[in-house]
Amino acid sequence: MLALRDIQPQKNEVYLDNNATTPVLPQAIEASTHTMQLCYGNPSSSHITGIKAKYILETTRDLTRQVIGAKTGQVMFTSGATEGIQTAIISSLIAAKHQQKSIENPVLLYGATEHKAVPESLKHWNKMLDIGAQVLAIPVDERGILDMTFIAEHVPNALMICTMIANNETGVYQDLALLEQTIRQHNSDVYWMVDCVQALGKIQLSISDTSIDYAPFSGHKLYAPKGIGILYVRESAPFTPFIAGGGQESGLRSGTENLPGIAALQAVLALLNDEQDDTFKSHEQLEKYREQLVQTLTKAFPAIVFNHDFTCSLPTTINFSVKGLSSKDIMDLFDAAHIRVSAGSACSSKVTGSFVLDAMGKPKWQSNSAIRMSFGPATSQQEIDDACHAIEQAVKALKSSCLILSDTADNSAIGVDGLQQWLYDNGCTWCYVDKATKQCFVIDLAPELVAKFETLVECQGYEVVAVLTTHIHQANEAHQNMIQTLWQNDSSSYDVLGWPQNTRLVSLENELAVEAITIGNKVIARLPLPGHTENSVAYLLGRADNQQLKAVDIEFVFVGDLIQINGLGRCDVQDGDASSLYRSLQLLNQVITEQTLLCPAHDYLQLFNTTLALEMQSQPMLKQIIDGEISEQAFIEYKNKADEQLPPADYHQYCGPVGSFNNIIETVHPNQLVKFISDSPNTVVVDVREPHEYDAYPDSTIGGKTMVNIPLSQITQFVQRNKSGQADNRYVCICRSGKRSEAAAKTLQRNNFTHIYHVPGGFALLNKS
Ligand code: PLP
Repeated sequence: MLALRDIQPQKNEVYLDNNATTPVLPQAIEASTHTMQLCYGNPSSSHITGIKAKYILETTRDLTRQVIGAKTGQVMFTSGATEGIQTAIISSLIAAKHQQKSIENPVLLYGATEHKAVPESLKHWNKMLDIGAQVLAIPVDERGILDMTFIAEHVPNALMICTMIANNETGVYQDLALLEQTIRQHNSDVYWMVDCVQALGKIQLSISDTSIDYAPFSGHKLYAPKGIGILYVRESAPFTPFIAGGGQESGLRSGTENLPGIAALQAVLALLNDEQDDTFKSHEQLEKYREQLVQTLTKAFPAIVFNHDFTCSLPTTINFSVKGLSSKDIMDLFDAAHIRVSAGSACSSKVTGSFVLDAMGKPKWQSNSAIRMSFGPATSQQEIDDACHAIEQAVKALKSSCLILSDTADNSAIGVDGLQQWLYDNGCTWCYVDKATKQCFVIDLAPELVAKFETLVECQGYEVVAVLTTHIHQANEAHQNMIQTLWQNDSSSYDVLGWPQNTRLVSLENELAVEAITIGNKVIARLPLPGHTENSVAYLLGRADNQQLKAVDIEFVFVGDLIQINGLGRCDVQDGDASSLYRSLQLLNQVITEQTLLCPAHDYLQLFNTTLALEMQSQPMLKQIIDGEISEQAFIEYKNKADEQLPPADYHQYCGPVGSFNNIIETVHPNQLVKFISDSPNTVVVDVREPHEYDAYPDSTIGGKTMVNIPLSQITQFVQRNKSGQADNRYVCICRSGKRSEAAAKTLQRNNFTHIYHVPGGFALLNKS
């Protein structure tokens, strides 16, 4: 385990994720430390040490009242906003239950862009307390503003309505006065909770001048530590304690108060309340910061789209998307450049998008590519200048990787040579480049990656020799349009899978003659292999000698969904046929070796490639087919049963079984890495991040050794080129967090590389001076 003091921020870190949490102000740290060291009493103790603690507690409460404008009502301290939200919801629902309001079809309303804590708590307590209300999302318009007509229509039946002042993903704020008017005009006594988390310190509040019943706040969104929050409760609002016990907080919330957190909060609120102090910047100043960042971003990404209307958004949040770049591309780049932002969508191979942008009706690509950049009301001009400089530097790396176009960069020297895998929603797009001739082709290009492919082609000046697909499902007719757009030729010169007309013939190992096209000094041969669908084919890439493509000369086979990693493509889709699959597998075996690398159309396990040898090990049935030990009929029966067990076929997800693979990879912990390298001179430290991440921060040595960049997307090419002769090398894979390095290490080990290690925690836990 790393010692706590060894976990440090990276050098020149630029933190632009203040909506997730802010740093803690020095004054807050001091207040908290002082309380822990000297004023550690329990506010409930009646001795002098306790009285002092109680004084800190109550003066913080008074200050809170001033800052949020709570002249009346209760102000209590909680562990954070999520607890405040629970308390408000439970209080409202229990009251509604006891009052047995005579509403025929009761509803619980919440804004569609609310933080997940709200709808999830509403649903949970609605169920737990057996309320039986319908939980309804209030739609928002394209700017993220709540639909007042919907509220007017449904609020008469509502037991509770939950809205927020400002959104955490976009900073969009609501017109509170109009909202109040609408709610109260149609239901004067509905319980109303307003999540004020993102508003504190940014919008002037006068809470008890409104009819808001509950208002939760969170300390860690405003420079206090995590674990402290505030809940305002209107005087007349019902209340049920969420935590019972010793009766602290006048019985509203039991448990010894978090005094260090409360003292820190006091320090922050004191600064906020002090008109002479300039820690918290004016609205105008924050708008200037936003303008500066927006200009830098627009220059860096000419294709940028901002996902919200700045005229109704807090200046501290900028949410944007860049066509052709996923959230993950930008997140990875920025993180490598030591800039911390957050993605609107989850950063995994499964793309989920942002529900906030979805609710605003933004196009899917915008939602899938969203990045949130947030600074805080106490951010300094220097921090914004540093951020802009860091963004400019980071984007240079993106331009030289051809992920975005640049007018100035000379890209001729860079560029990939060979095969890359781009993963989208577990689907594999395979892109092959012959660097010498600047020719390329792409197989099974996901529509979402078309822009990335086009940018690469334009940036490098590649000639596209083919845009191919291994099979088409009925549902995927959009694919045809995509090929048409990408191909410069007219549509009569290629078939439905993108295969061009003027081809040559090559013969395969079993003498079968198949059509082929040329790329550099290699060929792509097309081998029809029906089974998963009727039109399924495989593409074989290799060097043909005298029009012969021998098994040993094939580098890669793009097998589509015939064979997957740990499974066979399912046959219970339209045009699927187990008998054809059986024969296709036997045919494939005749024309390749057991070690030829197979590149499937799906990669559920992030293992990139496979071989017949590996698949025969993990799938005894495949071995029986290839060895002719099972009859076609017996296989059909087996396969039909096996397919029935699979989840429903869904184009993006399940073209075959997902399987599992759990080999153990040896690890080198971040604090042992330097010693590990010096102990063994034949260690190769492999940075498996993408080239734009590797280049984003000029620091490629470790323990005096230069790291080698083998991007995870090019691991299959690396395997192909280095299958033999690497026995003595010790490869230590490293990436940002340890996830990709583990995937790379697994892939290498699975492909018979020995002495493979990875660094759990990756660069995040590596202390580089
Ligand atoms: N509400 C909003 C708008 C938020 O942004 C957050 C935190 O991200 C929460 C509620 C939950 O706050 P806490 O982390 O204090 O539980």
